This record gives sequence, C-alpha cells and structure tokens, in this order.
Amino acid sequence: MARIVMKFGGTSMAGTERIRRVAQIVRRQAAPKPDGTRDEVVVVVSAMAGETDRLVNFAREAHALYDPAEYDVVVASGEQVTSGLLAMTLQSMGCKARSWLGWQLPVRTVEAHAKARVETIDADALLASLAEGSIAVIPGFQGLSHEGRITTMGRGGSDTSAVAVAAAVKADRCDIYTDVDGVYTTDPRIVARARKLKAVTYEEMLELASVGAKVLQTRSVGLAMKEQVRVQVLSSFTDEDSPAADDLPGTLIVSDSEMDAILERNDMERQHVTGIAHDKNEAKIILTRVPDEPGAVAEIFEPLAAASINVDMIIQNVGRDKGETDVTFTIPQTDLPRAQALLEDRRGAIGFNRIITDSHIAKISVVGVGMKSHAGVASTMFRSLSDRGINIQAISTSEIKVSVMIDEDETELAVRVLHTAYGLDAAEE
Ligand code: ASP
Ligand code: MG
Repeated sequence: MARIVMKFGGTSMAGTERIRRVAQIVRRQAAPKPDGTRDEVVVVVSAMAGETDRLVNFAREAHALYDPAEYDVVVASGEQVTSGLLAMTLQSMGCKARSWLGWQLPVRTVEAHAKARVETIDADALLASLAEGSIAVIPGFQGLSHEGRITTMGRGGSDTSAVAVAAAVKADRCDIYTDVDGVYTTDPRIVARARKLKAVTYEEMLELASVGAKVLQTRSVGLAMKEQVRVQVLSSFTDEDSPAADDLPGTLIVSDSEMDAILERNDMERQHVTGIAHDKNEAKIILTRVPDEPGAVAEIFEPLAAASINVDMIIQNVGRDKGETDVTFTIPQTDLPRAQALLEDRRGAIGFNRIITDSHIAKISVVGVGMKSHAGVASTMFRSLSDRGINIQAISTSEIKVSVMIDEDETELAVRVLHTAYGLDAAEE
C-alpha cells in the first residue's frame, strides 16, 4: 500500500467529459493492486481552465478597489465546484469518495489574502477517512485564515496545495497531472528535439520554474524541497493502456541523493546542463550618470524593494569620468510603469541623468547541478551565442545557473543553439 496525492490542473478539469477522464485515472490508482492491497488516494483539483480568470474579472467589475477578503471568497469558488463534481463522478463509478473544502480540514494559512501561505493542515479527519477506503477530493488554492476567513494562495496555487497536503499526510508521492507529460530539457515548441527528463532535483526545478518553464508554481517546488515531498509531473491526457503512474512515466522531482540513485540505476551520467529556460517577461532599466559613490545603489534599489518589485540582474558599469557610472538592471515587465514612476520621483535623491527602459529583452538560462563540479559551462554559453552573432547585454550566475540577457527577437535562436551546444538534442529517430 502506498499513499498517493494526485493533483489535476485546470485543463484536466475543464468540463464534465474531462472530469470523467480524471475520475478514471483516480479509480485506476485506487484499484486493488495485484497483491490485494490498495493505495490511499487524495486528489487535489484546480478550477476549470479559464474559470479563475472569469471570477477575478467579476471581482474587478464589482469594485475596482475590492476587499481582498471578499476577492478570496469569489475566486476560491471555482475549486469548490470541481471538487464536488469530481467526488460525484467518482461515486457514479462506484468509488467511495467525498470532498473536503479548505475550511473543513482545515488548511490553515497565514499572511495576505490572495497570496496566503500554508501554515498547517490538520490531517486527522482526512487520514481517518482514507483508512475507511474513501477517496478524498480537496479543492486546491483555498485555505482558512486565523480570523476564520477564506483565503487563496496566489495564481497557480493548487500545486502548492497538493504539495502541502502530501507533506501533511506523509504521502509516498505527489503526482501532478497536467497537459504536458513531464519536464523537458527546453520548450518543445522551440526545439523539436527537446527531451523529456526522467528526473530533476528540487534545486534544478526551482531554477527552471522561476526562469520561465511554467510547469509548476515555483512556491510548490520550494515547499516540496523543504518537506522532501517526492513529486512527479505527468500528463492526464492519456488513454486506458498507457503506463500507470506507479511506473513513473513522467518526470520525478527529487532530492540530490535520490537523483544519484536514479542515474546509477539507469546507467546514466549526469549532464553538466540539465535544461534551458527562457523568459520574455522581464524589462530592462538603465539609469545613466549615477554618482559613483557609497550609497548610490542603495538609493536606487531600496524604494523598489519597498514596493515589492523584484530586481533580477544588476550591472554597474565601470565608472565614467567625473565619478559617474551607469546602472542597468531587470525587473518584471508588469512592474515597469511603477518602477519608472518611483525612480522618477527619486531622481533628486539618486542623482541620475537619464532613465532608459526596454521591454524588448529576454533572459535565457542554462541550469544544472552538474555545473557545480564542472568548469566551462558559462564560457560554452558565451562562445556559442557569439558564434551566432547574438549579443549579450547582461549576465548573472548562481551555483547551478548561468543567465544572459539578449534581444527578445533572438530568443528562439539562442535556445536552439544552446540546446545543441550542451548536447541535449534527442537522437534522430
Ligand atoms: N485556479 C487557480 C488559478 O487559476 C489555482 C490553480 O489552478 O492552481 O490560478
Ligand atoms: Mg497550474
């Protein structure tokens, strides 16, 4: 017997037909195994695709400055609908199932509405119900605040709900069913020879998730790493005779040591680079002729931090004459108008000359734990890009990632070139 959490995203839950397909997948997981034992199964669901957007719009139409607590009441409802529908559908197939809403468990959350964080999940009632052979269906995304109000966890938050539930019930695995069949070396729409990865480490997935490989909500990966939850990403768009989830057809997201064991079992060598991500949603700001003196950069970045604007790459150019320098950095494109206004306001205090902005940029990142122990990953990147005439505007690195900023028009070319350069292309059929 194993205890399995299964999570289904919005496209998997979009309509009664799809929900029926999901119910079949759940029933298969919950069916008796050859040795007569059964898995305990918890299912976490998203709202139907497009539903949360629709609800957000209603809230905005009702009141431009809506009360965040009431916003949560509205947007949490999409998951309530799908959890009830899935429980009913399972019952119609002869399975024992019931829904458990966020406030019923409860899923206790802290911090702001619309971006609540899970604090604790009371799993007692849930475990008792599982022990009686009932399938538990939990709406993702929603929780309960200390004040007894409904909260939601930020867009894409059902992934985090699923991982939190898996941690609370000490699940053997958390299967995240989605519309892709795993995590790829890069976006298969850009590189036809992208390969599905058997496994990635939490660290790698965190970098890949945050740099634009949109398979999982980044927070869910951080939580999985902290709680050591084994996650598998796999497709719900399969047919009856495709391999069972227990055969691990998707991509596993695991600890370093489990990764080593997987590589060994499959007689594989760790690649220096595991995957390549791209992100077109950043914008660049250049402040010219900033005084080259202590405190100058603090003046720039403090107000941005206070406004919760995330700065990513930063370069301070070599000083010009007269003790001045240019400072270049990137922020999310959606924050550009706010950042620009904030900086204009502080023009006097910061003492810059001009502010130049550019949204026509992309960030390309190569990621891999293998680069901890191998030199030359960055230089391969720079050489491969320059051979194709791609100009690098900024660079940032971490222990397992090298990112460059380039012209947005060159994104696809850069991704293809790097995919080949690091030997990631799948063998020709
Ligand atoms: N329904 C929510 C959203 O669309 C949460 C989720 O699906 O993960 O953001
Ligand atoms: Mg999602």
